[in-house]
Amino acid sequence: MIRTHAAIVLKATPYAEGGAVVSFLTEHGERLSGVARGIKKPTAKWVAAFEPMGMVRVSFFGKEHAELKRVTRCELAFSPLTLGHLASSLVMACLADLFDRVAREGVEDDRLYRLLSACGRALKAHPDNALGILAYAEHWLLHCLGLLPHPRVCGRCGNDQAPLALLTPDQGWCCTACTPVDPTEALPAGVREYLRRLRTGSAEEAPWLDPSDQAQAATTALLRALLLQELGGELRSYAVLWQTLW
Ligand SMILES: [Zn+2]
Repeated sequence: MIRTHAAIVLKATPYAEGGAVVSFLTEHGERLSGVARGIKKPTAKWVAAFEPMGMVRVSFFGKEHAELKRVTRCELAFSPLTLGHLASSLVMACLADLFDRVAREGVEDDRLYRLLSACGRALKAHPDNALGILAYAEHWLLHCLGLLPHPRVCGRCGNDQAPLALLTPDQGWCCTACTPVDPTEALPAGVREYLRRLRTGSAEEAPWLDPSDQAQAATTALLRALLLQELGGELRSYAVLWQTLW
């Protein structure tokens, strides 16, 4: 049986005899993977179609629950790649890596596809904001995983005015009115406002990285650490990103 999906390419891993095992995020938000053969042949028309984050139409051949399906066709519909733009390419690899870990075979979550395709289009439109778009994606992935409490009111006392002091595993965001925190460990002022910008804006409006914005820096670091911890530790694509850009 052949099934065709709109999908986003996640990762291609070399496989026997010049082939690759390629994973995809389908439009329904399910992770699917299959073997593509002969991709190293110069005539192969799909070589470029396996670039991470490429939006494709892909056809799989194989039984419904077959261990490994075969990719019979893969056509590139949209590429977020900006040639020669290093930061944007590295962030595309990070996003593909993240979604490859989060998406599951046999589990549909169409929020994942909407988020990743929105980030791809935002990257194409604003490659210079690649790091801002990465932070935006990390925030919404945590939300999809159910790990990000709403920041509007303090999870401990319900206060909706006092600045947020820290994020706790059991009570969510806690505010300075009820939670005494050493000033050197408390989150800087403005975290709630920054979170609101992430929640209410589209990927194209993802806040740009502003080195003078301490709330943005602290929130980004906090959410990134939480997400990577949830996914089992540092990802290789992230290591490459930091080594290259810093
Ligand atoms: Zn409170």
